[in-house]
Amino acid sequence: MAITDLELHSFVRLPTIADVLQTLADRHAASQKTVVLAGGTDWVVEQEMAPPHKPGAELPMVVDISRLSDLQTIHLNGNLLTIGAAATYLQLRRHPHIGMGDKRAALLARMAQDLGALQIQARGTLGGNLATGSPAADGVAALMAYDASVVLQSVRGERTVPITEFQTGYKKSVRAPDEIITQFQISLPTHYNWYWRKVGTRRAQAISKVALAGVAVVESGQIQRIGLGMASVAPVTAALRNTRSYLCSAPLHKLTGAELDAAVNSDCSPIDDVRSTRQYRAHCARVVVREFARSLGAPV
Ligand SMILES: Cc1cc2nc3c(=O)[nH]c(=O)nc-3n(C[C@H](O)[C@H](O)[C@H](O)COP(=O)(O)OP(=O)(O)OC[C@H]3O[C@@H](n4cnc5c(N)ncnc54)[C@H](O)[C@@H]3O)c2cc1C
Repeated sequence: MAITDLELHSFVRLPTIADVLQTLADRHAASQKTVVLAGGTDWVVEQEMAPPHKPGAELPMVVDISRLSDLQTIHLNGNLLTIGAAATYLQLRRHPHIGMGDKRAALLARMAQDLGALQIQARGTLGGNLATGSPAADGVAALMAYDASVVLQSVRGERTVPITEFQTGYKKSVRAPDEIITQFQISLPTHYNWYWRKVGTRRAQAISKVALAGVAVVESGQIQRIGLGMASVAPVTAALRNTRSYLCSAPLHKLTGAELDAAVNSDCSPIDDVRSTRQYRAHCARVVVREFARSLGAPV
């Protein structure tokens, strides 16, 4: 399908989330294809890359969710930060608890600043970043560092899934065809250290060769809680479970670089592609994790 074929799709913009969910449910029950469209920065590009449209083949109906204000709300209640799935990166950067003002979740603003150029930040959303299922998802890496929860809704009701359990394989997830992601919930630690590093050809415009997001709570010389998310080193954005366990396993001064590298290696299975080589990605993964650990006080 070429980009000009986009006009062949039927396109609807519905007034409420309930209308979107009912439409998805009805069409799914009738075995009709539907795609929800937020910023379109992944889906529209995918259509351009797809093979030409075969005459007579069923095209999905496009349901635009980008103007549903209920999906764009960002608010902080105590320590609970909720972010609507269709909030854009620019909205994150400009929000008083994220990119401006008290900056309680400054890691998200830093990530959003490095994701694409301003045009992409003005359209792209965290919901789209997760639903696309790309392993190179910077937004998902940052949400993983905060151990965010993903809220899904359908006509059957609402459910919440830890972000580390959302993706089940390359481009596969627990999301049912008639569900949408409505919001992300983050329980913000009161005091924490955070880290963001994106390794790419150009700082923001390029998809990551490797990106690491980290959140850590350190008390009495030991990491009490750590969240990590790494893009582009595995078939899905990686939660680096072994690395998290190792970093919390002993006081910071007892951690060693060799053991940390071994944990990172066991969490990553990078590939060669147009953006980088497997070896370079593995090297970068170890370097950025060491850099974060050093910033926390580990002699690695
Ligand atoms: C030039 C360029 C640069 C980019 N740079 C980066 C980068 O640096 N880092 C990075 O991570 N990504 C990058 N991207 C990819 C893209 O911008 C992001 O993944 C973005 O977050 C996608 O969000 P969207 O709202 O545009 O998704 P869309 O294209 O609207 O949707 C993508 C997919 O998600 C589904 N979807 C969207 N919202 C929901 C929802 N709420 N519930 C269920 N399903 C949903 C859609 O049906 C579709 O299948 C770039 C893209 C371009 C074109």
